[in-house]
Amino acid sequence: MSPNPMLNIISGDLELSPDIQEYVNDKWGLKDAGHEYNLIAIFGAQSTGKSTLLNTVFGTGFDVMTANRRQQTTKGLWMTTSGTAENTIVMDVEGTDSRERGEDLEMERKSALFSLAISQVLLINLLETDIGRSNASNYGLLRTVFEVNLGLFQSTSAQKTLLLFVIRDHYGTPVAELSKTLEEDMNQIWEGIRKPEGLEDAKLSQYFDLAFTALPHKLIQAAEFDAAVEKLKPWFSDPDNPNYVFKKEYRKRIPSDGLGHFAGEVWEQICSNKDLDLPTQRQLLAKFRCDEISRNILHSINDEVQELQTALEGGREVADLADRMHTIYQTSFDSFCHQASRYETSVFQTERDVFAQTLHGILYMLFAAQLRNIHRSSLKSFTAFVEKLNAENPDSFSTEALKQKEHLLATFENSARSLTIPGSPWKYEEQVKPFSADINAVFEKLRAAGIKNKEVALQEEISTKLEADLAFAFNTIDAQFWPGMDTLVTEAAAKLPEAIDTHLKGYQLSEDERADVQSTLSASIKDLITKELNELVDASTFNSKLRTIFHSKFRFDSQRRPIIWRPGMNVETYFDSGKLLARNALEAMRFIKLDWSPLGISNPPTPLALIDKKLENKIWTQFESEVAVEFQDASMRCDQPQYKIPKWTYLAIFLLGFNELMDFISS
Ligand code: GDP
Ligand code: MG
Repeated sequence: MSPNPMLNIISGDLELSPDIQEYVNDKWGLKDAGHEYNLIAIFGAQSTGKSTLLNTVFGTGFDVMTANRRQQTTKGLWMTTSGTAENTIVMDVEGTDSRERGEDLEMERKSALFSLAISQVLLINLLETDIGRSNASNYGLLRTVFEVNLGLFQSTSAQKTLLLFVIRDHYGTPVAELSKTLEEDMNQIWEGIRKPEGLEDAKLSQYFDLAFTALPHKLIQAAEFDAAVEKLKPWFSDPDNPNYVFKKEYRKRIPSDGLGHFAGEVWEQICSNKDLDLPTQRQLLAKFRCDEISRNILHSINDEVQELQTALEGGREVADLADRMHTIYQTSFDSFCHQASRYETSVFQTERDVFAQTLHGILYMLFAAQLRNIHRSSLKSFTAFVEKLNAENPDSFSTEALKQKEHLLATFENSARSLTIPGSPWKYEEQVKPFSADINAVFEKLRAAGIKNKEVALQEEISTKLEADLAFAFNTIDAQFWPGMDTLVTEAAAKLPEAIDTHLKGYQLSEDERADVQSTLSASIKDLITKELNELVDASTFNSKLRTIFHSKFRFDSQRRPIIWRPGMNVETYFDSGKLLARNALEAMRFIKLDWSPLGISNPPTPLALIDKKLENKIWTQFESEVAVEFQDASMRCDQPQYKIPKWTYLAIFLLGFNELMDFISS
């Protein structure tokens, strides 16, 4: 099996690779590992078989120096994943032989810092012969490791790293003895390092666990080396092995999908020689990743949200919107929690709330648009429904309209409630309020229109009847005229309440409304009578009226027989009595002498003038001039003794009667 792809994560020029996350996600398949992965790094002098060890134990393909190919490999830090231990990232360091050169010291310090920030376990590779030699390069390296570690983890004493010493070219001396020496040496180095203020008494064991193993010379004792390596492998791959190194407590709590970003930030801090404070870095990483996770999820729901938005903008109601909104919300929220909960709890919790709010904001637009559409379509259908009631079924207006109104209100409220995302700050009741106000307004408006229609119809009905009654009453203008008119008013008023009840029963009028309708109709009765009276006394109309009255005395006798003017008849007597009757009628019409109180209308303090003096004179003058002609004509007939009615006329009247004779003559 060929080793997994390898990445020169930090080059010899101290450049960090931009491809870390891509390798983690795609080449190493650790994208969704979360915290369930391990990271191990190795340190030690050059050409002490470090790469050889890693390749043998982890099945990696790090470059190994051979006798004929020295120093060909790019310097810096290398990273890959183990082919044998599951979910394990392995980091190798490629340096030079001499650590006396300043640039390598710098490289070593930075590598140590970087490795400590992300690894659970540091392998310290050293030759047995180096143990106890305080000037050996390994000891200098360990001093560096201790110092930078204190800087890194000073605020979190609980964060431990395991140092696993691999004693190479082991021969003879028992491992226990060598371990003891090493442990003493380590404590001595620890004592000797400069410690930050407040940490003067810190113990090595607060920061590091130490473990030891030994391997014989690979080339000289090949079989023993292989056997020892086989025994060592389970330390990295079998959690049940008593020496298993990847304990949870050594984890640096960097979820795999944030490793790339975290490495970048840490490396930048290291290179700019800023204090590297891991807890802060972890918080920054958490914030960064939460934002990124949030963005990705929001991006993934964007198409569906857009599609719904577009559909809603078309004005129609989306039938399964509530379900779809709840699914979008729950899936997104769960996905966020699943990915982001791996990061710093406090940051995650805050960001989770922010994310929920963002989702609420996005979904609120759908919520509001859907309700707006329901609002509009319900108002439209309600308007049509109520208009139809007015036109076709006004008698059950109130019952039917109210029933429909309640139905639409309940439907709207249900929709609003089911669209509400639990935990969102939306108050669906607030959406119901304007809808309820609008639908009530439509109801009131159309009810008022319906009432008005009915009122107008009733008014027309009353007018038709009243006009006929008035025409009849206007036939005779005598002493009984005004009492007769009073009776007419009283009768019209008396019929009103029942007429209102029958015509408007569908609208369930309140007392006030009934009173309003009644007073409108009463006023219209009064207006109509007043109008008709005014028309009656209009100069030309009234003139002919007066002449009719005059004729009742001047053309007809008391038996309503036509008067035939014959010589010797006293025209003046007839003329005067006709004129007197006309005069009386004219005078009777000077004022409106009507009692409006049956209609609930108060009477004016003084009767209103119907015919003023000027009009009266005009009418009378015209009347007199017209009847004067008739007088002359009649007088002429009576004053002409030679004028003889032919004898056959009397015979004809006797035989046919007067009317038939007149018809006969006029034909
Ligand atoms: P690194 O520089 O520490 O990574 O060392 P390498 O793994 O590249 O090996 C350097 C040289 O040491 C190579 O020629 C190896 O064959 C040799 N080597 C491998 N294993 C051992 C060992 O166990 N002991 C010794 N002394 N040399 C070894
Ligand atoms: Mg090497």
